[in-house]
Amino acid sequence: MSGAKDYYRVLGVGEAATVDEIKKAYRRLAKQYHPDRNPNDAQAAERFKEINEAHDVLSDAEKRKKYDRLRRYGAFAGAARRGPGSGAPPAGGDFDLGDLGGLGGLGDLFSSIFGRRGRDEAEEAVEIAVQVPFRVAALGGQVPVTLALSEVCPGCGGSGAAPGATVSTCTECRGRGTISFGQGSFAVNRPCPVCRGRGKLPSVRCPTCQGGGEVKVDKRLMITVPPGTDDGARVRLKGQGAKGRGDIIVVFQVEPDSFFRREGHHVVCVVPINVAQATLGTRLKVRTLDGHRVVLKVPAGTQHGQRFRIAGHGIEKNGRRGDQFVEVRVDIPAKLTDDAQAALREFADKAGLRH
Ligand SMILES: [Zn+2]
Ligand SMILES: [Zn+2]
Repeated sequence: MSGAKDYYRVLGVGEAATVDEIKKAYRRLAKQYHPDRNPNDAQAAERFKEINEAHDVLSDAEKRKKYDRLRRYGAFAGAARRGPGSGAPPAGGDFDLGDLGGLGGLGDLFSSIFGRRGRDEAEEAVEIAVQVPFRVAALGGQVPVTLALSEVCPGCGGSGAAPGATVSTCTECRGRGTISFGQGSFAVNRPCPVCRGRGKLPSVRCPTCQGGGEVKVDKRLMITVPPGTDDGARVRLKGQGAKGRGDIIVVFQVEPDSFFRREGHHVVCVVPINVAQATLGTRLKVRTLDGHRVVLKVPAGTQHGQRFRIAGHGIEKNGRRGDQFVEVRVDIPAKLTDDAQAALREFADKAGLRH
């Protein structure tokens, strides 16, 4: 998702900074974060890019004017809300154009002025990361998710007007609903941010949505996790997002399991056994992914790290199911009683083991 920075904060100057002050701040920061001085430092490189972007806009009177205008319209409300020194990163004040849903085409407007990518299909979608327990990812299932989504305001039906309010023509756009920015070939028409493209303004704003016509509603969704879901796998939910038309892109983050780990279609678990079990052989009860226990025969003379296969108990994907591998870890007793030590010596002598 695209984002934009508060350029004043990027350069660490005030809104009223002179051209000279901006130049000075830029030179100082550009020197500090220059890639030549910070080789292989991705963070510095990112910062360097921001600094240049901020300078590019703020040092150009025309661009700065437009940028300031956007700021006045509240494009940086997010940055202001966060406030200085409240844990924002030093680059600080970045806001997400996606947050501007309530301001109509402002994100769009911003994009067009500063040469960013226009609002495309991907930007209409909300991307969410969903944590999935290992076993749910392996076997499939459902995970509940609560999302704050924009919905049409129930108080005004989306008009933004309080009940009984009179509606008049928007003075900002003179009722056109769009505002033209720039001149000549640079000019672009965008929805008016004051009336949100409606061309009309109510005398009293709807108290529920403050005139925005939409509200954030916590929406609870059950996300279906397909069996064999990989970490980072994505699913697009069409028409489940903002106002019932945007899409939701779910990115699954598979939580690690304390017992199982995945190797392709197979799952591997490590089971500790002691020296006697490894040497003499034993039977182990091993938990499977679906919560069953199977008995695994460990033969005499089993080595540390040896793997045993439990067929068909791995991950099912595309109609194929992998296996479960049990890797034994041979634990050596750290402490023995005198008796046990003597017995072990005797054993070693009899077995011809040097000690
Ligand atoms: Zn409303
Ligand atoms: Zn307007």
